[in-house]
Amino acid sequence: MRGLLVGRMQPVHKGHLQVIERILNEVDEVIIGVGSAQTSHTTTDPFTAGERVMMITKALTENGVNPSRYYIIPVQDIECNSLWVAHLEMLTPPFAHVYSGNPLVQRLFQEKGYEVTEPPLFNRKTYSGTEVRRRMLSDGKWEELLPESVVNVIHEIDGISRIKQLDRKEE
Ligand code: ATP
Ligand code: MG
Repeated sequence: MRGLLVGRMQPVHKGHLQVIERILNEVDEVIIGVGSAQTSHTTTDPFTAGERVMMITKALTENGVNPSRYYIIPVQDIECNSLWVAHLEMLTPPFAHVYSGNPLVQRLFQEKGYEVTEPPLFNRKTYSGTEVRRRMLSDGKWEELLPESVVNVIHEIDGISRIKQLDRKEE
């Protein structure tokens, strides 16, 4: 059986890793949809889809997850919620089960007959993309919220300098 998890993952953090590992205890294969794939270079969505694919791949490799057990697929937003599930079905391998904490995503898949589960959240106060980006902008300890391999990706792409520059206002 295949399960689906969708998230913007801006950036990938330890909560994502834990929920993926938990889903893999329940299904044979997990499909990880990288949402809002077209969006990058803003303070709320700093990283490109390709960079986020690299973060997930390296984090799963670092944690010894067998590559035959996951698919990572960028998914662009469409302007039409009622067609979004079909858009996803076009891009991904078939799946039977959807994991999401997002009420809109839950509703859209339920209306199409999918089984939807809300996965438990791990350390949600700190393991959240919003908190990671806040710490990046305020010289806080963002590194401890991310798998080490994702920290390395962010250094490789000069991610902290990018998000800080995007946060500046034009004079
Ligand atoms: P942001 O604050 O930018 O929205 P986020 O941490 O919520 O970032 P998303 O990419 O929006 O990250 O999350 C996608 C999905 O990943 C969520 O719907 C949820 O199912 C799962 N998830 C996110 N954070 C955690 C966490 N700490 N523990 C377990 N699952 C999580
Ligand atoms: Mg979120």
